[in-house]
Amino acid sequence: MRRMQSPATALLLVNQRAYKLPVHPTVVVCVDGCEPDYLAQAVASGHMPWLKRTLAQGVALRADCTLPSFTNPNNLSIVTGVPPSVHGISGNYFLNPASGEAIMMNDPQWLRCPSILAEAARAGMSVAVVTAKDKLRALLGHGLRGICFSAECADAATLADQGIDAVMDLVGRAKPSVYSAELSEFVFAAGVRLMQTRRPDLMYLSTTDYVQHKHAPGTPQANDFYAMLDGYMAQLEELGCVVALTADHGMHAKTRMDGTPQVIYLSDWLHTYLQRNDGRVILPITDPYVVHHGALGSFATLYLPAGVSAHAVCAALSQETGIDCALPRDQAAGVLQLPADRIGDVVVLADRFTVLGTTPAAHDLSGLDVPLRSHGGRGEQGVPLIVNRPAPLLDRKRQWRNFDVFDIALNYAQ
Ligand SMILES: [Zn+2]
Repeated sequence: MRRMQSPATALLLVNQRAYKLPVHPTVVVCVDGCEPDYLAQAVASGHMPWLKRTLAQGVALRADCTLPSFTNPNNLSIVTGVPPSVHGISGNYFLNPASGEAIMMNDPQWLRCPSILAEAARAGMSVAVVTAKDKLRALLGHGLRGICFSAECADAATLADQGIDAVMDLVGRAKPSVYSAELSEFVFAAGVRLMQTRRPDLMYLSTTDYVQHKHAPGTPQANDFYAMLDGYMAQLEELGCVVALTADHGMHAKTRMDGTPQVIYLSDWLHTYLQRNDGRVILPITDPYVVHHGALGSFATLYLPAGVSAHAVCAALSQETGIDCALPRDQAAGVLQLPADRIGDVVVLADRFTVLGTTPAAHDLSGLDVPLRSHGGRGEQGVPLIVNRPAPLLDRKRQWRNFDVFDIALNYAQ
């Protein structure tokens, strides 16, 4: 299907939301783990001149991400414009009710709706997606006729599968380690090169939170990262782009005052509560790259043995120090906008200072060389929502979500 109207009037309908097709090349950037304080500290210390100007002249909102405040659910919310209750990606990892197996949620078979990117490409727009880690590529690129590759596997990109080849020549940088700030820099560098050489109508760039898991806002390493980001955003702006920046989730220290991780081990808790070794705990933060957080996040789901009251479990859990809230399935699905068939009998959220595990033996924390920083709960819901152009018609008092970023960029800021 080709777009028949002029770009200024054509509307794209995706998941019951309407988007104007871009007049200017539009770049949406998801900065993984970008707690707003990273920006405040970096701007205040003079590391982000582009952002300082943009905050004064463009759109500068604080928005809420979706829960769980994890990478996959939020990246998919951003590119679909809807919460996990609609798109179906409830975590990085989940218990498949059909098989009883706990598996990664990287496969597009779990996605329940199309993305704005795929639909824009179908309407005749040229679309490019660059993600840091390869784990997101298949989900972000599902149904997309265009360019979609990861920095992690950039050297393996082919025209047939990723819509582009010779990426290493295009970017002109060495392939970075998956645990590095350079993995995210590769995403930005690739985005700028794509804009210089192919000028896509719509581009989505998604980084990794390696730096944010290790370094607090205002530290030299964090400020260096954001100075790097600022330079690439300035280049995209110079290329005439509408640049919109948001995050998948925030990030907080999750430690006791002695610097050790503050963890509630839910399998141990459940076995004590039930007085037997039964039930199952799923940690949806789990992914193949756990060195920097040990699979400890502030969100978990419980599968209870038959006959055990979810309400009673929630009441008991809510008494524990460090628990923000525990909700039975239906309530969690409604209040937190989650797919009811993918979240277990109970959803547990830990507070700003606390993470959830299964048992101490199941979490390898030997790779943690700094005090634990992580995310997953309501404490990490606040994220930036920034666009480099003014949007005078925007209702700034509304509670915006990170998955409104395409709405603002395309409908208000062109
Ligand atoms: Zn993330």
